[in-house]
Amino acid sequence: MKLTRKTNIIISSLLLLLTLLLTIISGFDFKRFADYETEFILRENVITRVEKFSQYSPKLANTVGDSNIYVIEGEELGPSVLIIGGTHPNEPAGQLTATLLLENITVTKGTVYIITEANKSAFTHSQPQEASTMYYHIATANGERTFKFGSRATNNTEQWPNPEIYVHRPSGQKLSNIDTRNLNRAYPGCEDGTYTEKVAYAITQCIIKNHIDVTIDLHEASPEYLTINAIVAHQRATSVAAKAAFKMDMEGVLISVEASPPNLHGLSHRELGDFTDTLAFLCETSNASQGKIRGKFTEDLIITGDDKFYQQANKLGVLYAAPVDINERVARHTLSILSILQAYNDIYGDGELGKFIINHVPDYEDIINNGIGHYLLDSLL
Ligand SMILES: [Zn+2]
Repeated sequence: MKLTRKTNIIISSLLLLLTLLLTIISGFDFKRFADYETEFILRENVITRVEKFSQYSPKLANTVGDSNIYVIEGEELGPSVLIIGGTHPNEPAGQLTATLLLENITVTKGTVYIITEANKSAFTHSQPQEASTMYYHIATANGERTFKFGSRATNNTEQWPNPEIYVHRPSGQKLSNIDTRNLNRAYPGCEDGTYTEKVAYAITQCIIKNHIDVTIDLHEASPEYLTINAIVAHQRATSVAAKAAFKMDMEGVLISVEASPPNLHGLSHRELGDFTDTLAFLCETSNASQGKIRGKFTEDLIITGDDKFYQQANKLGVLYAAPVDINERVARHTLSILSILQAYNDIYGDGELGKFIINHVPDYEDIINNGIGHYLLDSLL
């Protein structure tokens, strides 16, 4: 059928209007997602103070990147640890583990610093071309908590354009341009640098100014990625990591220890170890929802890790670690943190600062059996 010119114009105009309408509707959706503030519940008399990234990296003041640092000081002075969640917002077990600790632990000796949204800009958008869900929900005793599934990288609204090649500073190493907006390629950071470098600078300065003894950066990786179910450690931290892995193995939770490659720059375990006195660790669990061979992206995939393509790949033996549900991933991270701190106590505890005494860290088996929702607080209570 041959359409007249007039009909063509009408059809084209209608299609244009439809496109415009869809753009406006999705634009509102994106804006709502970007503005949504995830709730973290602070217990009175437990949280000593809430610091801001801008205290350490002043140019982040009044930007989305001015994240919180929650500080829990023990009754007695002692060693200090920084737990970093939310470096990569498409790796939810990191943020959930940091939240679990924030809402459960008490400290008798030492100081615990907790970050739940390390790269907050990356929580304002989704990973392009992944069709991921924006939110996921965790059932609690009295309702549910909403968390965001964001992107690996800083939003372009904070940092644009991307250079052809990303030159890491201060090493001068050339990296892929997609890593320009990756917080875990931006350490030690730069006060006057890009948004991502300013965020990295805040974390590095927080460690330096507070003399933080141990830093644990929580991540996840796709099941087909080599470094998985692993603790990656800076060379000054390998004896603690080895002892921690041994403790985990004794509990039946297998984990490998990987040495931080000396020539791969920008990563927390490399640069925080080189530029500060902290013992730097990075932990990885197996997350199907960020993997490349998964099928349809659903909220259920984030929670259960269940995906028929990954099940098939696991049967064929081509994965480095089978995907597991979010409870087991958080349980692994929690046990890794506890084991690292116990190993620190074993090796350094007789020194001037003494040992960490941290209470109410949920147990590995209990997290798996009860589910993490059991440990998340309810804002109504
Ligand atoms: Zn990561």
